[in-house]
Order: sequence, then structure tokens, then C-alpha cells
Amino acid sequence: MDEFDLIHSITPHTLHHTSVDVGIGDDGAVYTASPDFQQIVCLDTMVEDVHFKLEYSAPEDIGYKALAVNISDIAAMGGIPKFYLVSLAVPSCWQAAEVQAMYEGMTELAKLYRMDLIGGDTVSASDKAVITVTVIGEVEKGLACLRSSARPGDVVFVTGDIGSSAAGLSLLLGETAPSAFSERDYFIQKHKRPVPRVQVGRFCSQLQHTALNDISDGLASELNEIAEASSVTIEIEENLLPVHPDLRTAHSKWKEWALFGGEDFELAGTVSQKEWTWLLDRCKASGVPIKQVGTVYERKEANVLMKTADQKRIVLEKKGYNHFK
Ligand code: ADP
Ligand code: MG
Repeated sequence: MDEFDLIHSITPHTLHHTSVDVGIGDDGAVYTASPDFQQIVCLDTMVEDVHFKLEYSAPEDIGYKALAVNISDIAAMGGIPKFYLVSLAVPSCWQAAEVQAMYEGMTELAKLYRMDLIGGDTVSASDKAVITVTVIGEVEKGLACLRSSARPGDVVFVTGDIGSSAAGLSLLLGETAPSAFSERDYFIQKHKRPVPRVQVGRFCSQLQHTALNDISDGLASELNEIAEASSVTIEIEENLLPVHPDLRTAHSKWKEWALFGGEDFELAGTVSQKEWTWLLDRCKASGVPIKQVGTVYERKEANVLMKTADQKRIVLEKKGYNHFK
């Protein structure tokens, strides 16, 4: 199968958005932006053997995740994902069916969010595959959720559970024995097929001020970024961390994975006390778990602090602990 056959085979027959004037097939895509909205663009790259390994990831899973991590960035801005473009560098040893399977993984997710594939690029790679996805989304003018929006007194929250993706990866790499967990498949699924929290992002966009970040590098890192951008100190409590009970009881690394593991693609953010109950109610009604993990304070000596189970206060660096002097 050559490049043209491939492009032909992955070109969608119908599009969700009538605002696409020219899709795949010309030098560039043309779409009409919605009035009163701002455009959000983000891009993420996944490299074979760095971000995924073919031994444990099916091409469908790789495609799914490459798109999911970008949708997660749109969610963290409070936006609606709409379009995506795919740049693919594939080694000649890949079969056409594998490339198509990658697109099937993306299509499956794109359907859920009513997203249209509007372009891309296909090149050959000498050794390892590289997939880059660009997602275009939109948000009502002035309502994007920025990292700089945290204020003293705000509630700090996290959706879903954290550390599960790192547990899944550890299982896939064979570093943790399958017998260690009873919820093995849940953790593996959290690693291979994270569910971007678009709906929560949309709720947050309707609030007065919300700082939002998706958890790609670990909670400690994401909260450090919010604290830095907002010039505040964030204090969380170890006892409040949303960790799956099977992970918390079965593995000594649960805390390290929850704070520094990353790739959970949950949302971490801040919201005023007044609006927190509204957000909580909306999430409850939609069946999305969300939990307060801490509070925002005026800027102190560190970006992020954590009260441990034994009532000590430690500094959470972007990566790793630092005992509080
Ligand atoms: P050009 O030479 O003008 O860059 P291409 O032959 O690379 O055109 O692409 C032709 C069309 O197919 C364009 O609309 C492009 O966006 C689309 N396309 C190419 N590769 C991919 C891909 N891997 N995924 C989705 N669309 C693609
Ligand atoms: Mg091209």
C-alpha cells in the first residue's frame, strides 16, 4: 500500500462538523471558526520505545492514546475538541493493516467526542515509529481555564484516581507481578486508554476563575506549575489523595506513583470555595469522581506542600520529595 492508498483508506466518509469547508485532499484544510469562540491548538508526539512499546501496545491502543492525550490538553483549557491532524513516520517493516489499526483506535475515540480528522502527513522512518497528533478545539471568548488563575482560599481538586496508570505500566513492563493486584486490567486500561475529562473542563470554563492542568507528568509537577503561574502556595493532604483502594493496600509504591507517576490524564485544578459545591454537584450528576485534595494559600516558602499521614509537612518538588526544614 502506498501513501496515496493509505490516505484514501483513512479519509472519513462523513464529517461531524459542517464548518469544515475542505477536509483531507487538498494542500490544507479549511474550516470556519465559530463566532464568539477562541481557537485552542495543541500537539503531542509519541515515539516508539520511548512512549510506547509494540510488545505490549496494540496499534489501536497507540492511536487511541496519541489522540487521547491531546484531547486531555483541550479539556485542561476548558475547551471542546473538534478537529485533529496526524503526522505519521512509519518504518517500512510496519504492515498497512497496523497503520490502519492505529487510525481505528483514533476513530473510536474521535466518534465519542464528535471530532473530525482534517489532515496530516505521512513519511517513512528508518527504524522507530513516530506519531504526532494535533488537536484543534474551541472555547467561549475569555473562558479558557488558565494555570495562572489560582487564588488564596481556593479548593484544590483532582478528578478520578491517580497512580493507576503508573501501576498499569509497571505491570506491562513486568516490574510488578500480575498477582500483586486483583484489579490488574483496570490499571492496564488506565495506562493504555486514559479517558480525557472534557466534561469537567467544560464545567470549569463556566466558573469565575479555575486553574486547570491535566495530569501528564504527575500531580506534584502539575500543582507546581499552577502554583508557579499563579504565585501562590498549594497545600495538599496525603490522606486525601484519590488512590484506587487496591493500589493503596497492595503496593508500597502507591504514594510515589500517585504524586510523580504521571500519565493519569485526570484533571487537577483550583476553584473558589463558593463555586466548589456547584462543581461537585455537576460532577456527581455526571458520574465523574472528583475530590478536594487541598487548599490554595498566599505565597509561602515553597510552591507545593503536603501534610503527610503522620502530620509532617513536606515540600513536593516537581519530581521527588524534599523534607521540609
Ligand atoms: P502535500 O504534498 O500537499 O503535503 P500530501 O500528499 O502530504 O499533500 O497529503 C494529501 C492530503 O492528505 C492532505 O489533505 C493531507 O492533510 C492528508 N494526509 C496526508 N497524510 C495524512 C495522514 N497520515 N493522516 C491524515 N491525513 C493525511
Ligand atoms: Mg504533505
